Amino acid sequence: MGNPAIFEKVISHCKEYGFVFPSSDIYGGLTAVYDYGQNGVELKNNLRSYWWKSMTQLNQNIVGIDASIFMHPKVWKASGHVDGFSDPMIDNKDSKKRYRADVLLEDHQEKIRLKIEKELEKAATRFGEGFDEIVFKQTNSRILEYQKQVDHIYTVMREGLEKGDLAMIKELIVAEGIVCPLSGSRNWTDVRQFNLMYSTQMSATDSGEDSLYLRPETAQGIFVNFLHVQKTSRLKLPFGIVQTGKAFRNEIVARQFIMRMKEFEQMEMQFFCKPGTELEFYEFWKAHRLKWHKTLGTPDSKYRFHEHVKLAHYANAAVDIEYDFPFGFKEVEGIHSRKDFDLSKHEEYSGKKMRYFDSETNESYIPCVVETSIGLDRLFLLAVCEAYSEEEVNGDTRTVLKLHPAIAPVKAAILPLIKKDGLPELAEKIYNDLRMDFNVYIEDKDSIGKRYRRMDAIGTPFCITVDHDSILQGDVTIRHRDSMEQQRVNIKDLSKILNDAVNMNCLLKQLL
Ligand code: ATP
Repeated sequence: MGNPAIFEKVISHCKEYGFVFPSSDIYGGLTAVYDYGQNGVELKNNLRSYWWKSMTQLNQNIVGIDASIFMHPKVWKASGHVDGFSDPMIDNKDSKKRYRADVLLEDHQEKIRLKIEKELEKAATRFGEGFDEIVFKQTNSRILEYQKQVDHIYTVMREGLEKGDLAMIKELIVAEGIVCPLSGSRNWTDVRQFNLMYSTQMSATDSGEDSLYLRPETAQGIFVNFLHVQKTSRLKLPFGIVQTGKAFRNEIVARQFIMRMKEFEQMEMQFFCKPGTELEFYEFWKAHRLKWHKTLGTPDSKYRFHEHVKLAHYANAAVDIEYDFPFGFKEVEGIHSRKDFDLSKHEEYSGKKMRYFDSETNESYIPCVVETSIGLDRLFLLAVCEAYSEEEVNGDTRTVLKLHPAIAPVKAAILPLIKKDGLPELAEKIYNDLRMDFNVYIEDKDSIGKRYRRMDAIGTPFCITVDHDSILQGDVTIRHRDSMEQQRVNIKDLSKILNDAVNMNCLLKQLL
């Protein structure tokens, strides 16, 4: 179940503790563009690194590349993005505000669903313990009417989008009496398609022919390098190529913080295999990717698969991994079996053979592709939403980010109890010994309690307190973030204690 109040807290927490800032904030920000702060960038790097290692280091047949953001304009013709990568938009003539037509309808559906929830809540209070929700849903006339309306919107919207019948979408918006959230009016324009790619020019003397697009996905960089990688790596099918990097989409409906941005980062893999075997690999990657997500400690109930019922013409299977965000279940990653569509299109548009020579069967063919595509920013949001918790401690509230130690931005804070008697010097020595292997932090300001709270808020798994006994006995107090338990340990054991908990291997070995 969603929890919008928590989401607002997560957003302000991210800003207050140096995870995510609105871009160009001093100028009023830029819609749907965000910057990562000092803690955010560490968390993001750790998530990327975990994904990268799990793909490349753990798999002998998967290698990485780093292709450029600018690509030949024909790439986007071949991929279908120039003609087909668009959203249906509608403008309100009074507010002059533009909306995604399908999102207006989805929001309207959501409002009706909320009415169903309200009816259920009221009934549950009225009937008490004996309340049977399932039977009530199937028999209550008001709920049945609401459900019919939700289903009707879904069916008509689907049909309109599939047929590309934009008039049908407009009629539905009008028939449902949907008003502009800003002006409150129903004065709508027609629905039009709006391409999501940003264009720019290669040279100052651009005649229009050499205009470029900022890539809307990283996948095409992999497809166009398929032969280079195959030949230079001598990999045999099946094999995968991964890449991470920025992608750009002119998302009109920018919502939900870093969930939907205009500039974001993707982590994608294209897995090339012999035609006929792709569905087997699709099933493999579907299961494997879900397993990967769960290694971060998120409970099973927070994930679900959303199978695509209506497939794109080039796909023979597609599924989203959805996470239960505070605003409901939403896609984090997509897994798609794309047959030989992409390589065939590049062969057609470039005139270059995109074939693989199979030495076992002595034939050349275009391989099929299974794609896994995850948004790093959405994964980041997932990690923070999942980790954010508020706990009552001695009548006080502590906010703690219970991130898996391997992805936490700072691994340990070294805190001298007071600023004299040689304690800062010993703390400095411990810091210097640890910093080559771990991102550690040293701080002597404020009370120990306040310093603990600050470290909890950024998800630091360990606080190491240096006191007078540390000088006499060579030991320190180590405090565990989640349990708040404190333990006396020898200074020379610190490195091992940290390593056992924060090393990326803790995650990687769960995948073997
Ligand atoms: P959605 O339906 O949510 O728009 P999509 O199906 O268009 O997503 P894909 O094109 O499959 O997304 O991209 C793969 C992944 O990239 C998504 O699962 C998501 O994690 C991420 N992603 C896509 N668009 C954005 C965006 N605008 N901002 C942040 N992440 C994004």
